Amino acid sequence: MGGFFGAVTTGRSVVLDVFFGTDYHSHLGTNSAGLTFWDKEKGFSKELHNITNTPFRTKFENDLYKFRGSCGIGCISDTDPQPMLVKSQLGVYAIMTIGIINNAAELIDSIFKKDHNQFMVMSSGKVNSTELVAALINQEESFAEGIKNAQKAIDGSMSIVIMTSKGELIAARDAMGRTPVHIGRREDGQCVSFESFAYTKLGYESYKELGPGEIVKLTATECKQLAAPGDKMKICAFLWSYYGYPNSDYEGVNVELMRYHNGERMAQDEIDRGTLPDVDYVAGVPDSGVPHAIGYSTRSRKTFARPFVKYTPTWPRSFMPNDQSVRNQVAKMKQLPVDRLIRGKKLLFVDDSIVRGTQLRETVEFLYESGAKEVHMRSACPPIMYSCKYLNFSRGNSDMDLLARRMIQELEGAEGQKHIAEYADSTTRRGQCLLSAICEKMGFDSLGYQSLDGLLDSIGLDREKVCTYCWTGKE
Ligand code: SF4
Repeated sequence: MGGFFGAVTTGRSVVLDVFFGTDYHSHLGTNSAGLTFWDKEKGFSKELHNITNTPFRTKFENDLYKFRGSCGIGCISDTDPQPMLVKSQLGVYAIMTIGIINNAAELIDSIFKKDHNQFMVMSSGKVNSTELVAALINQEESFAEGIKNAQKAIDGSMSIVIMTSKGELIAARDAMGRTPVHIGRREDGQCVSFESFAYTKLGYESYKELGPGEIVKLTATECKQLAAPGDKMKICAFLWSYYGYPNSDYEGVNVELMRYHNGERMAQDEIDRGTLPDVDYVAGVPDSGVPHAIGYSTRSRKTFARPFVKYTPTWPRSFMPNDQSVRNQVAKMKQLPVDRLIRGKKLLFVDDSIVRGTQLRETVEFLYESGAKEVHMRSACPPIMYSCKYLNFSRGNSDMDLLARRMIQELEGAEGQKHIAEYADSTTRRGQCLLSAICEKMGFDSLGYQSLDGLLDSIGLDREKVCTYCWTGKE
């Protein structure tokens, strides 16, 4: 994933706005970050840093004195370093992107055949996706036409922000609106942001949320539409259930409230089915499981507690090493148990989702070793059956990394993979088999998944407008 922020003012320095606005996207990426500014006299200035082990703010605070400008953009990225500075027939400009290009190899080949004979490659040997997007934009005579060209050619999704050499911003939401792009406005300027809360703290008010594929040009005082939004949207459901920040609103739906409703719905469904377990405490797996658990606790009238607390002073959220075993170790070190809430207790945990299950297995073992009497698990979304192909969403490299798919393979081999929809539905025989098999493997006393209906009702948008590919495999 990743997040971005940009601002343009009538003349006031935007350096601090862009610094803090970008910092507020740190929950969306952990790999690299960059800031670029444009100043009438100085032109462009840029800094990029690796933020794998150090948070954005710490890495960039010493650079602030170098920057000047009334226009600037900043990016937190999980993949390629950006923003990039580009020179083409469209002039010099800075560009940053969020998304994924599944057909990068074909696009690079087609560009080689046309007009371009080289790309810089990163140490991984890959072409930077943002550079590839710029090459597609540069094939046309204007930024708007270039962005449309890129959106049409890319298989995946791509939101784009450009800062021109006139000190203007051009913002485009990805063609199907999988991720949000918000425009904020204040007396002396305008901004563009993935997260709306990033600018409200800086004195901007929400002006509009771009529609799918919409393109706008922002000056300090004007927001001019360069391309109208498309009529189809598939916004990512995981924005609400997992990676969106609690105070964020997307398409008018608040993340924290959606999670309460989602937890309430799960509990209500269990009350209706008569499967609500008798537990001492309901708890959330920190962080995003907690609000789902609050909702579950409220509706089930079972006491909410925190048998685990996170040790946050020295483990910033952004510290996410690439190595999976180190990540697991960090996750383990961060979570501290509260012995008296565990020993001899029957506990029900709600997690935002169950992906590979590796960490969960260790947590459950630890709970039993710490004297828990029973451990029940609830997932705030249905079983994940497909890896995301629209965003750089690191939830598994292949479908068979996913716990549910591995279990189906164990249960029925290749035949099972033909009945995924049935396995995903806990009310069917295969769905029940999957629950029992995972319970046994992971050592849960009971397991429940939120239904797709429950999840979509909790989001509350028109169902057609929400991407549920992770669960259904349907585009
Ligand atoms: S496939 Fe899943 S993670 Fe990807 S956009 Fe759709 S709902 Fe979101």
